[in-house]
Amino acid sequence: IISEENILENKIIIDEKGDVNHLKNVFRVKIDEKVRAVDGEKEYLCRVAELDKKSVTLVIDEIFEDRFSTKVKIDAAIGILKNDKMDLTIQKLTEIGINKIIPLSTKRGVAKVSEKKDKWDLIVREALKQCQGVKPLIIDEVTKIEKLKLEDYDLVIVPYECEDEYTLKNLLRKQTKELKSVLYIVGPEGGFDIEEIEYLKQKGANIVTLGKRILRAETASIVVGGVLINEFQ
Ligand code: SAM
Repeated sequence: IISEENILENKIIIDEKGDVNHLKNVFRVKIDEKVRAVDGEKEYLCRVAELDKKSVTLVIDEIFEDRFSTKVKIDAAIGILKNDKMDLTIQKLTEIGINKIIPLSTKRGVAKVSEKKDKWDLIVREALKQCQGVKPLIIDEVTKIEKLKLEDYDLVIVPYECEDEYTLKNLLRKQTKELKSVLYIVGPEGGFDIEEIEYLKQKGANIVTLGKRILRAETASIVVGGVLINEFQ
């Protein structure tokens, strides 16, 4: 993953220690070998031109605009989860191609976010490399439910374990308009408070069940993300 500073005419100079190490010692690239670089917007197909002690120089052969994004932007507001649960959720939602995660502060959420942003950014970077995506998942500021900008989305979905009838499948079947953006909102380990559900309902969110089993919050986040990506890609 590169930034503008790495690009010099038709060359890319990789000089970030971790990336140089990855190319030389993990991928063990050789001169003339093909390498793919991304800058969050575009994809560069390159060849290795020089291998130095502290840098790798690539020559750009072809440039592509993002070939992998979904047509519909899918954002996920997730009640902040404890310990490594949030890390796992961020990693998996990056892999499947979610656009943005909004860490949600909720009434029953117990986890605190302290200096996690750098760790989360690193998880996104590593996951993006692994899945060969182009656009990194955006991690927004921690937001309260009342501050979510629900009006910015064409469809808002709230999986809620106490809803017995209306399924995600029913909701998706009902969509006739072409959508540009979807937000789904998953509660924390302790679930949503009923007042939060009433507030979201009143703001036009669609409350759905994912079935009779109670899923862990991270499972629900990944499952709903996967269904939506599959539906809208
Ligand atoms: N309130 C419950 C409790 O503490 O026993 C469970 C909360 S659940 C672990 C965390 C979140 O996952 C929920 O807020 C909801 O968004 C989602 N979820 C889990 N299972 C679900 C299901 N069967 N249907 C809809 N949403 C579900």
